Amino acid sequence: MINYKLRHAVDLLYSRGSATSEAYTRLVLECVRANEVDQAKRLQHHMELHFFQPDNTFIQNRLLHMYAKSGKLLDARNLFDKMLKRDVFSWNAMLSAYAKTGSVKDMRATFGQMPFRDPVSYNTMIAGFAGNECSSEALELFVRMQEEGFEPTEYTHVSALHACSQLLDLRRGKQIHGRITVGNLCGNVFIWNALIDIYAKCGDMDRARWLFDRMVNRNVVSWNSIISGYVKNGQPEKCIELFHKMKLWGLKPDQVTISNVLGAYFQSGYVDEASKIFNEIKEKDKICWTTMIVGYAQNGREEDALMLFGAMLLADVRPDSFTISSVVSSCAKLASLYNGQAVHGKTVHMGVDDGLLVSSALVDMYCKCGVTSDAWMVFKTMPTLNVVSWNAMIGGYAQNGQHQEALAIYEKMLQEKLKPDNVTFIGVLSACVHANLIEQGHEYFDSISKQHGMTPTLDHYACMINLLGRSGYMDKAADLIEGMPHEPNCLIWSTLLSVSAIKGDIKQAEMSARHLFELDPLNAGPYIMLSNMYAACGRWKDVASMRSLMKNKNVKKFAAYSWIEIDNKVHKFVSEDRTHPETEKIYEELNRLIRELHKAGFAPNTNLVLHDVGEKEKYESICYHSEKLALAYGLIRKPQGGTPLRIIKNIRVCGDCHVFMKFVSKIIGRPIILRDSNRYHHFIGGKCSCKDNW
Ligand code: ZN
Ligand code: ZN
Repeated sequence: MINYKLRHAVDLLYSRGSATSEAYTRLVLECVRANEVDQAKRLQHHMELHFFQPDNTFIQNRLLHMYAKSGKLLDARNLFDKMLKRDVFSWNAMLSAYAKTGSVKDMRATFGQMPFRDPVSYNTMIAGFAGNECSSEALELFVRMQEEGFEPTEYTHVSALHACSQLLDLRRGKQIHGRITVGNLCGNVFIWNALIDIYAKCGDMDRARWLFDRMVNRNVVSWNSIISGYVKNGQPEKCIELFHKMKLWGLKPDQVTISNVLGAYFQSGYVDEASKIFNEIKEKDKICWTTMIVGYAQNGREEDALMLFGAMLLADVRPDSFTISSVVSSCAKLASLYNGQAVHGKTVHMGVDDGLLVSSALVDMYCKCGVTSDAWMVFKTMPTLNVVSWNAMIGGYAQNGQHQEALAIYEKMLQEKLKPDNVTFIGVLSACVHANLIEQGHEYFDSISKQHGMTPTLDHYACMINLLGRSGYMDKAADLIEGMPHEPNCLIWSTLLSVSAIKGDIKQAEMSARHLFELDPLNAGPYIMLSNMYAACGRWKDVASMRSLMKNKNVKKFAAYSWIEIDNKVHKFVSEDRTHPETEKIYEELNRLIRELHKAGFAPNTNLVLHDVGEKEKYESICYHSEKLALAYGLIRKPQGGTPLRIIKNIRVCGDCHVFMKFVSKIIGRPIILRDSNRYHHFIGGKCSCKDNW
């Protein structure tokens, strides 16, 4: 807010031309008191013009402090250089200007040049270090200060505790706490808050709560420290309880409180409760909106995240790169190209300061929607690239079956002298898996340790097991597991199980499934996969025993479903679904397609049905799989045009649907992109990009 009275006074002084030095001085002090930086700056220049080199250290110090406080480093620096006489106040002001603007190097140098220091110099330095992520240096200086004979004040202790809490150094924190108690320095609220903060951050919630309960003058910061402590230490119910208490005490929660409480609700999965709190907030700021959007996105409520983003824009709150990247990731999960493009457009239009977060999310989104060409466009125009962006592009190409592009990008990354990380190699190795590049896969796998000095992770081993198994080297895959430096986990066994299923190796599959029954007893996947294998060779007794095993262990089958996005709306189907309002039309269209495919030589593969039922039931249960229903609906709503139909399935596509999609892509002359839980299938002209290897 501009102080118009002051501004008028400054203008008046200018117009008179012949003001006295005293008049200037009075007005400068007035401006400093009102923190009118721009007016004070104008006066400073005029004083310098009219009275030549001013040596009024008192006024200059006041100006310096004001510049420092408002983060005007350049103005502070200019004035400091001009000063004829500098005292300890001038030096301290310069230190705080550097601290405030994060110029730690200059701050350190200035401290070294100081001809005299006082406790304030040390306090400013310690706070400056602690506030700029140089916590160890802050604590070193805290010790040196005392060695040089300066007694730390309450303010020093607050900064030192802040440093300890950043380093999660509870031992040092306790020492300082002891000194504070002995020195009887517990008088002010800042010390109490700093103490609660360090105990909470280091996980000693009992001690933090003990202090909190004994505090006399609690402010919002104290409540926030304890509330966020409970969230971070996995006690969201305590956080929520305190939040209600806080309101009973008549304290107004601020944005930090709200985002912590929202976080607590999401932690415990109370998404609806979180949205209730959110709706009660009258003035929502960016942090609130973002917390809520991220919460939705992370709790599988992507559509709500998108809706809320729209509301945020309507409320005229400017999103930041964190909000945008979270929304873009939601679009990626839904494979919602329409929304993804819209958010991309908005980002460009609003000029959101991107960094790398948004671009990397966009690359990932376009890849997950199967449009690697657009992902490449974003990637190519990124001003800087980090390992995350490279990984997104490599992984994206690999998942879409463009293994040559994936490996070429990886080689380019090495040429640019970027160090690949674990995620990079997951992308590289899956490219090899999808293209069955066994030799290259081995070379890349060996290079992880030999060339890049890293230990291959379980993810990397899983890729190799997949690659070996698919190429028919089931024994070698089993040997690899034997020789691993890690204990095999669910991923390893489920990988071996699925390659065994592909290869029809029942013995190996049974062995892997046994491990999975132990490690992850409630996961229906292994039971179903084994059942399918038994069914395929007519071992109905084993199918039945699998079914009763599942029943005894109370293993719930997860619903397999597919969805398709039409005009910005997601339509979800389960197998043999009859709940969609346009069910009649969908089945009509699907049956028409099946008849047409019959003429072209397609016969449903009823071997893939897992129950021992009659041929007619077998036929129906396989013909009306969810992805087929989604496809039929897509054809009804979007009958024309060469644009691809995009379908997403939450589990692996079955063999029959795979053949079906290939036939349909040929008959309708339109590409179909099907993303299943494993990879992407681009069906074009009767062929699939996975080359029937998935
Ligand atoms: Zn199917
Ligand atoms: Zn395929």
